[in-house]
Amino acid sequence: MSEDPQRRPMFTFDPAMTELIFDYCRARLEEYPVVLDFGGVDPQLEEALDGLLTREGREPSEILDRFTNQIAKAVISVDSPRFLSFIPAAPTKAALLFDMIVSASSLNGTSWLEAAGAIAAENQVLHFLSNAAGLPQSAGGCFVSGGSIGNLSALVVARDRARRNSPELGSQRLRFAVSEEAHSSIASALHVIDVDAFIVPTDDHRMTLATLQTALEADQHPETIVAVVATGGTTNAGIVDDLEGIGSFARERGLWFHVDAAYGGAGMLSTKRGELFQGLRHVDSFIVDPHKWLFAPFDCAALLYRNPEEAAKTHTQHASYLDIIHSDTGEWNPTDYAIHLTRRARGLAIWFSLCVYGIDAYVEAIDQAIIIAEDAAAAITATAHTELVREPGLSVVLFRRIGWSDEDYATWSTDLLKDQVAFVTPTKWEGETVARFAFLHPETSPEMVSEILATMA
Ligand SMILES: *Cc1c(COP(=O)(O)O)cnc(C)c1O
Repeated sequence: MSEDPQRRPMFTFDPAMTELIFDYCRARLEEYPVVLDFGGVDPQLEEALDGLLTREGREPSEILDRFTNQIAKAVISVDSPRFLSFIPAAPTKAALLFDMIVSASSLNGTSWLEAAGAIAAENQVLHFLSNAAGLPQSAGGCFVSGGSIGNLSALVVARDRARRNSPELGSQRLRFAVSEEAHSSIASALHVIDVDAFIVPTDDHRMTLATLQTALEADQHPETIVAVVATGGTTNAGIVDDLEGIGSFARERGLWFHVDAAYGGAGMLSTKRGELFQGLRHVDSFIVDPHKWLFAPFDCAALLYRNPEEAAKTHTQHASYLDIIHSDTGEWNPTDYAIHLTRRARGLAIWFSLCVYGIDAYVEAIDQAIIIAEDAAAAITATAHTELVREPGLSVVLFRRIGWSDEDYATWSTDLLKDQVAFVTPTKWEGETVARFAFLHPETSPEMVSEILATMA
C-alpha cells in the first residue's frame, strides 16, 4: 500500500495530538467550579461544524478548537452542582479518569473468553450491589448503557419465564402490574415486548401491597398478570413503592418482581433511607444507574437477577462464530444477561472509584444529597413566597411559588440559566406546574439553594 506522505498516520502514536487531548482532559478535570454553560438551540452550531469534515482531513488543533470554543459550549454541564433538573450527574474524579483507561485500552466486555479480567472486576461491583440489596450470592447480571435498556432486558426475561411456566395461558395476552408513576421506559419496554400494562391505582402516588391486592381482586383475569414492576424512587418525586409488601406478595404468588431503581437505588446504601429498600431482597430483577446517584460517568446501569440462568435462557445469542464463548463452565458472559453483544467494559469506572475511595465515602456522598434536600425543604417552608408540594422523596423536592402561572415558571427557569445561577426546570404535579429540585451533587450548597429561592421573590 502506498502511503500519501501528506496524510497523517492513523495508527501511529502521535505525541502532539496526544498532548492536545490530554491537555483538554486535564483542564476539564481541573475546572472548578464546573461552569453550567448553555445547551439548546444555538444558531451558530451549523457554522461551527461547517468545513470540518473533508476528504483530506484537517489539523487536530483546528477541530479541537471548534469543539472547545463552540461545540462544547453548547452543552449544559450535567456535573455542575448548579444542575438540578431531570436527574443530574456527579461523576467522581477517579471514575472519570479510569473511564479514559477503558477508552484508551479499547476494553470490550462481551465475553469471559476475551475479557475475563475486566468482567471479574465489574462483577465485584455487581456483587457489592446485589449483596447490599440482600440477594443471594448466586445473583448476578451485567452493566448496560442505561436504565431503559436494563428495564427492557429484565422485562423480556420476565415475559419469557411466564410463557414457559404457564403454558395454560396459551396465546392470551400477558399483563404486568405497574403503577401510574412508573418511568416512561417501562411503558416503552412493555410496548417492545408486546405485554400490556395493568395499571395499579395508588393513593398518594405510591404502590403498596393494599393497592396492588385491591386492583388484582377487582380484575376478571388476574392469572394473566404475571409480573409486578415497582419503582425504587420515582424520577419526578423520589417516591419509593412499598417494596417489602409488594415483593413478598409477588414471590408468594410466583409473580416476577422487578424493581426499577435507576435513580433511587443508591438510596439502599444510605444511612437515612436504607430501610425503604429492604424489600429489594425479594426481587427477581432490579436495576440501578451508577451514572445517576452512584457517581459514575455516562453511560452505566447495573442490571441484576436473582437467578441469572433464567436471564441467560432469554439473552444468550447463538451463532456459529460465538459458540466458543460458551464452552467454559466457570465463564461469565455479560452478553448472556441483556440485549447486547459488544459492550464497553463501562463498569470499570465505578469499580476503580469504589476501590479508591471506599464504601464509606460513597455512603456519605449519597447521604449528602438527602441532607441538602431536607435543608432545601426547610428553606422553602421558611420563605414567604414558596411552599412545599410534598415532603421530599429521597433527594427530589417539589415546591410551588405561590401565585405563579405556567409562564412565570418557564420564564424564571430560562432566566436562571441565562444568568448561570442554576438549571432548574418545572414539572407537573397532579396537573399543576411546580418547581422541582433534583439533588445529587454533594457540593450543591444551601447557599446555592437560597440564591435560587431569592430569584422567585
Ligand atoms: C432515569 C430513569 C430511567 C431511565 O434510565 P436511563 O439510564 O436514562 O435509560 C428509568 N427509570 C427511572 C426510575 C429513572 O429514574
